[in-house]
Amino acid sequence: MRRSMVHRKPYLPEKQCPVCQRPFAWRKRWARDWPQVVYCSERCRRSGRPSARHA
Ligand SMILES: [Zn+2]
Repeated sequence: MRRSMVHRKPYLPEKQCPVCQRPFAWRKRWARDWPQVVYCSERCRRSGRPSARHA
């Protein structure tokens, strides 16, 4: 087998989650809303939003 071409990782854009402060990479599921994606996960998304308490 010839290995003339080195396998390259495709470039994936990254963002940093404001909640857990971790960088996360583009995912296919975000293909459509990547510009709107802020949090790395649903969990962070929920905890990241200021919870308006109705006391
Ligand atoms: Zn996060």
